[in-house]
Formats: sequence, C-alpha cells, structure tokens
Amino acid sequence: MIAYQQPDNRGHFGIYGGSFVSETLTHAINELRAAYAKYQNDPQFIAEFEDELAHFVGRPSPIYHAARMSREQGGAQIFLKREDLNHTGAHKINNTIGQAMLAKRMGKPRVIAETGAGQHGVASATIAARLGLQSDVYMGAEDIKRQSANVYRMKLLGATVVPVESGSKTLKDALNEAMRDWVANVDNTFYIIGTVAGPHPYPMMVRDFQSVIGRECLVQMPEMLARAGCSSPQPDAVLACVGGGSNAMGIFYPYIGHANTRLIGVEAAGAGIDSGRHSASIQRGTPGVLHGNRTYVLQNDDGQVTETHSISAGLDYPGVGPEHAYLNDIGRAEYVGITDTQALEAFHYLCRTEGIIPALESSHAVAYGMQLARTMSPTQSILINLSGRGDKDIGTVADLSQADFFCRPSCQGQSVKGQSAQTQTLRMVK
Ligand SMILES: *Cc1c(COP(=O)(O)O)cnc(C)c1O
Repeated sequence: MIAYQQPDNRGHFGIYGGSFVSETLTHAINELRAAYAKYQNDPQFIAEFEDELAHFVGRPSPIYHAARMSREQGGAQIFLKREDLNHTGAHKINNTIGQAMLAKRMGKPRVIAETGAGQHGVASATIAARLGLQSDVYMGAEDIKRQSANVYRMKLLGATVVPVESGSKTLKDALNEAMRDWVANVDNTFYIIGTVAGPHPYPMMVRDFQSVIGRECLVQMPEMLARAGCSSPQPDAVLACVGGGSNAMGIFYPYIGHANTRLIGVEAAGAGIDSGRHSASIQRGTPGVLHGNRTYVLQNDDGQVTETHSISAGLDYPGVGPEHAYLNDIGRAEYVGITDTQALEAFHYLCRTEGIIPALESSHAVAYGMQLARTMSPTQSILINLSGRGDKDIGTVADLSQADFFCRPSCQGQSVKGQSAQTQTLRMVK
C-alpha cells in the first residue's frame, strides 16, 4: 500500500491545483471550503448522499464481465464498470447530487452549471428539480447545435439554458461565462462544476463525490475476478477516459494505494496526437493556469489557450484536473491517446459484441482496453470505467457514418470474403 494524502490544505497537488481567483470570488470560495469541511464527514450529510445514490441514481452500478469481447481480443479479461446505467446516463449525477446538497445547506436557492455535451447540464438540472432549486446552465452555442436532445431535456427539467457566443462557443467558454455569473451573483448562487477542475476545493470535492465508483469496484471485483479465473483479487489495470478527469479520478482514487494496479487515463487524440487537432492536455500540454487552478494546458508559446478537438464533446477541453497532472508527474498513473477513428471503431464493436451502446467519451477507454488486453494473459484483468451511455451520440455517429439512423444493407455485418473484421467495421464507419 502506498501512502497518499492529496491535496495539501490549500489545494495543491504538488505544483498543481491551488486557487487562482479574483477578489470577488475569494469570499465565495472560502465560504464553500468552510461548508465542505463542515459537511464532508458529517454522518447526516453522508447518509443523505448515500440514500440519494441508492434510490435516485440506482447505485451500486454493476460490474459486467465482457466475456465475448475478452475472448475475441484473446488476452486479459475485460470488465466494465457500468456508470452508463446510472439515472441520467453517466457518472455526472454522483457529483451534482453532492454539490446540490451543499447548496441547500448553504442556503443558496439558485445553482448554475457549465456543460459541453450536455450531460453535466442534464445532471445539474435533474438534481435542481429534485431539490427545488432554480438552475441556469451555460452552454456553448456550437454545443447547443450538436446536442439538441440534451438541451431539450434540460428545458423539460425546468432549467434555463444560456447560449454562450464567445470564443469557440464550446465548453471552455461556457466555463468562463459561468464563472462570470458566479462573480456577479455569489450571494444567492452555487456554482456546480462538472469535473475535477476549477479552484480549490472543487478538484478535491468532485473527486470525493465521484470516488464512490472506485470504492464500489474494490468491493465488487474480488468475486468477479475469482469467477473469471483471474489470479489476483483486484484488476491489473484500471482504465478511464479523461476530459476534465472526474470519472477517471472517481475510479482511480480508491486504487492509488494498490500498487499492483496500473492506472491508465485515456485522452482524446482526435485527428492524431501530432495533428494539432486533439484534446490531449497531459501528453501535449504545458503547465499553466486555467479556470482557477494550475495544471497542464494546451496553449501556445504566448500562453494563449489553443483550439481543441475531439469527436466527443465531453473530452473536448484544453485543461485537465490538477490531480491527474500530479499523478502523471509522480508516475502513479499513465496517460495515453486514442483517436476519433479508434474510438468510433470501439463504439461499434461494443454495440455489436456486447449489446452495450457506450458514450463516445467512454469508447476511448474501451478502445485502449482492447489494445492493452491483447498484450496480456487470460488470467489477467482490465477494469474499464464505462462512464456513460451512447444515446446522446447516435446522431453524431450516424452523421459520421453518412448512414441513416437505421443501418443500410451494406452495414449489416455479413462477412465479406477476404476482409478482416476490422476492415468491415471501417467500411461501415466511413
Ligand atoms: C462528461 C463526460 C466525460 C468527461 O468528463 P470527465 O470529467 O473527464 O469524466 C466522460 N464520459 C461521459 C459519459 C461524460 O458525460
């Protein structure tokens, strides 16, 4: 077991993290820190949080042994942590419940949130409805176009969706606008950040709320692994996609002390890690300050944040949670890249092989898991965090496939003589 105690009391993970905020926000941040310090170990708060997770979200989420997929890859046993089965379809709800419960206790009647693909917006609007809070969700105008179903979902839940027209009109711009709103309305407003980013205490607090994922895995895995004939009681590797990094921190954190378990974060390599069109902040970024904390940032020599790209809006972010930056530097976690094309292939493969439609974000982790499994033995194991379901993405996938929503005869999976399964998948994707 490795001793691991992060962050320090000012929110530093090594040289990363901290709190870089304006004068106006210092008061709000201090108030939040005090509230979280008060409630994080409060038995009543914890009991209510656990009750919401059990009865509103449907936790614990199961772990599924993808036996067919494992056999076909011909290496390690692959397991999926089914965060896609949560209410609202992703891991995001775990965190929004914790933060909305704090908002209630702090007497804030209004919550705001930023959203990219719309999953965090939907999760925030959902818990706001559940707890009787007013909610406004900032969303880039570009993302509003790409994710119209989630926009309507938020409206149905009673939220106001505020279009953001600045910058690239995507997630980072929505975050900027939400921060601005918070500065102007600190008295009555709680800002629910959707990932392990932002000024201290957000990266720590979001990690803590999401750690329920990894804690459940620690309990669930020994039996699953024994049944599958694996040799150790915990997985040899734990994988998760990394946008801001909350689903990854949620599953990694309880495993940090388990030195025999590799922790692997999968970033979006977009059009290619050397193409300049990706969102691989750890692999291609440099230390800088973004959204209130120091971390790896995709920026040019002048410190201007550069344009990012990913097929999945949820990974399309130029920064990353500061704890990932730290885990990378100390070598406790590894970070790799998966391209749009590889993610899309894994998406189709999981649909057809296991009957699970994954989110495009999660498909990045699945793609790397497939590659890694082939280098390992059948008594070894890989646990992949399936962060969300792919219902929100079927329009994107259909557009990219230039296919109808309903598959044409050419993509019904018949064997084409002389072509590998992979070529056939590609044919279908293109
Ligand atoms: C938002 C989202 C992500 C990316 O966010 P993280 O903070 O990196 O977890 C990944 N998967 C799904 C399904 C999401 O909705």
